[in-house]
Amino acid sequence: MQANFNPDDDYQFSTDGPICPYCGCELTPDEGYYYSEDYIEETCSRCDKTYNVSVNIETSWSTTKRESEEK
Ligand SMILES: [Zn+2]
Repeated sequence: MQANFNPDDDYQFSTDGPICPYCGCELTPDEGYYYSEDYIEETCSRCDKTYNVSVNIETSWSTTKRESEEK
C-alpha cells in the first residue's frame, strides 16, 4: 500500500504503476500491455475490484546539431 494512499480519493496517480483506488495496491508495470493505450481497466488481485486505468503516455523528442563536416 502506498504511504499516502487515501481510500476516500477517487483518483490515484503514480509514475511507478497503476494503483488500485479501492485498496491502494500498486502494480508493477512489468509487461508491455501496461503501456498500451488499450489498457483501460484492471482487476485488483488483492480486493478483487475492477477499476479504470488510463495510461498517460509522455513522448518527447530532443535534437542536437550535428558536427558540421563542410566549412
Ligand atoms: Zn484493490
